[in-house]
Amino acid sequence: MKAESKRRKGQRRPAGSAGAKAGAKTAARPKPAREEGEQIFEGLGVSPGVATGIAHLRESGEIQILEYKVAPRRVAKELERFREAVVQSQRQVGKLIAKAERFHGAAAEELGYLLEAHLQMLKSQSLIGGIERRIDETHFNAESAVMAEIGEIAGNFAAMDDPYLRARGQEIREVGLRIVRNLTKSSFTSFDRLAPNSVIVAEEITPADTALMDPKHVGGFATVLGGAEGHTAIMARSLGLPAVLGVAGLIGGVKSGDTVIVDGSNGRVIVNPTDRALADYARRRKELEREARSLMRLRNVAAVTRDGAQVNLQANLELPREVGQALAAGAEGIGLLRTEFLYMNRADLPEEEEQYAALSEIVAGMGGRPVTVRTLDIGGEKLVSSLGPRLTEGLNPALGLRAIRLSLKERALLETQLAAMLRAGAKGPLRILLPLISTVSEVLEVRKALKAVARRLMRRGVRIADPLPPLGVMIEVPGAALAADALANVSDFFAIGTNDLTMYTLAIDRGEERVAHLYNPLHPAVLRLVQFSVEAALRARIPVSVCGEMAGDPRFTPLILGLGVRELSMSTNALPRVKSRILQLDMQAATQRAWLIMDQVDSGRISALLDDFNEAR
Ligand code: PEP
Ligand code: MG
Repeated sequence: MKAESKRRKGQRRPAGSAGAKAGAKTAARPKPAREEGEQIFEGLGVSPGVATGIAHLRESGEIQILEYKVAPRRVAKELERFREAVVQSQRQVGKLIAKAERFHGAAAEELGYLLEAHLQMLKSQSLIGGIERRIDETHFNAESAVMAEIGEIAGNFAAMDDPYLRARGQEIREVGLRIVRNLTKSSFTSFDRLAPNSVIVAEEITPADTALMDPKHVGGFATVLGGAEGHTAIMARSLGLPAVLGVAGLIGGVKSGDTVIVDGSNGRVIVNPTDRALADYARRRKELEREARSLMRLRNVAAVTRDGAQVNLQANLELPREVGQALAAGAEGIGLLRTEFLYMNRADLPEEEEQYAALSEIVAGMGGRPVTVRTLDIGGEKLVSSLGPRLTEGLNPALGLRAIRLSLKERALLETQLAAMLRAGAKGPLRILLPLISTVSEVLEVRKALKAVARRLMRRGVRIADPLPPLGVMIEVPGAALAADALANVSDFFAIGTNDLTMYTLAIDRGEERVAHLYNPLHPAVLRLVQFSVEAALRARIPVSVCGEMAGDPRFTPLILGLGVRELSMSTNALPRVKSRILQLDMQAATQRAWLIMDQVDSGRISALLDDFNEAR
């Protein structure tokens, strides 16, 4: 077979998306070799760099199933955990069905039927109800209840004469394994037993899975599902792991043990590469390493434009272990600490003491630089097992009980976080940031809760931040941007979240690969909302930063700064490159270009005006 015909059709990288990551544009692309045995898949290059290693296919990975009894008082929680895994499995299969629909031919039709059958099983009362009964009556943990029920049903099918019915037994097993994989989110803890530089290949990788990846063992990853601005992509960029998501046809095209190259800059996955491709990519890797080393020399250089405008560059942190990296990159503070890490990969909720210890360590680690801690931003694509299925069950999770809405409803969640933040604030400068704010009353309610928690801690004689930490809001809902003047009156600072702002303005799911090409922060409506928010903050004389992924892409730097922003927060890996862009920039020229851009109605024209400006330097 000619290798050209083996090239798999995937998706193009979204034009003008922040997912078109830094470095991809200037990179001399290695020529894709197309020789016998080699297969090239295309998808969304969401985290730049090159990883070459041995594939570890999640589908074939062993799932360690522990069998144990849960205490009677924890049975309800165990049932919740099981139901959450079922909902997650249904969602995955639903996405795969939608994906299969895009293909034609008998094989695609067959796949569609098969997946439909899986979905029906995941909804069937006899299967799901049977497993629930086992958990409820025997008190066995969910994983072992699934395996026992599946084993029994599949065994019955296997005993049948009809080959069609026998085959159904295998399908049931597959469905059961999917549920178990979703239950044992820790199936990837075996990452730490992988050979260094392994490349993970999976249908889907959640943000929680990514949090378990140690770059010492994992070189990069590639998945079938996932968009460029979802949280898995953000985590990959944070950890500096090259990643390609949304790769159609990947499963089935790779086996565990194959050699794989993940080219996260160009959105390419090369399976069983030729010697030439291996050599090309090894050279490319060296180039990238050289470039990174040279950028690191800017660490202690102030981010000042050629005409003397000072810019404050801060880091977005996903995990506490990134503090050292943030300092090494020259971050002047943490502009966004996502606290979701405290809730991931566990069945219980973190207590105040644990949160306080984690936050204090980060505050101390930053040595007097400000740390902006965001309250829990769970919901939508960011799910954690410790909060159970109440979050997954909404009709439309992106618009449902998530982020600040959840915190205000579940007061214990909010108050525990606020108490930990107030206490950690006694150890160094700390700011509190609220996600997904849409109304003034939400801010006022949190302020009231903050004061009440502070009073309670003081009565207990506990040391807290004095004065109380500044309380800021994320501007990431279009309504919040439009009401920015009112919000500025009750907030101490703004942090503009362009990831969600783009998603909600354009009604494009940021984690959905099928609409990734439509996700565009350069849409005039998104830019208008950013401009609105910045101007409201400047009028009210409160600090304003951009902490969405746009902030970490040097392509957007002149535009954001031209709109009046002087504080950017981004993944630490992006920081040196953005600083380098700032050093070359003339703020006056950037401001004029931003005004010109704000007069445009077409995102294509905006893109061109920005790229022309960047090329002219
Ligand atoms: C954003 O929405 O832009 C943001 C920074 O928050 P997150 O990516 O965590 O939703
Ligand atoms: Mg957000």
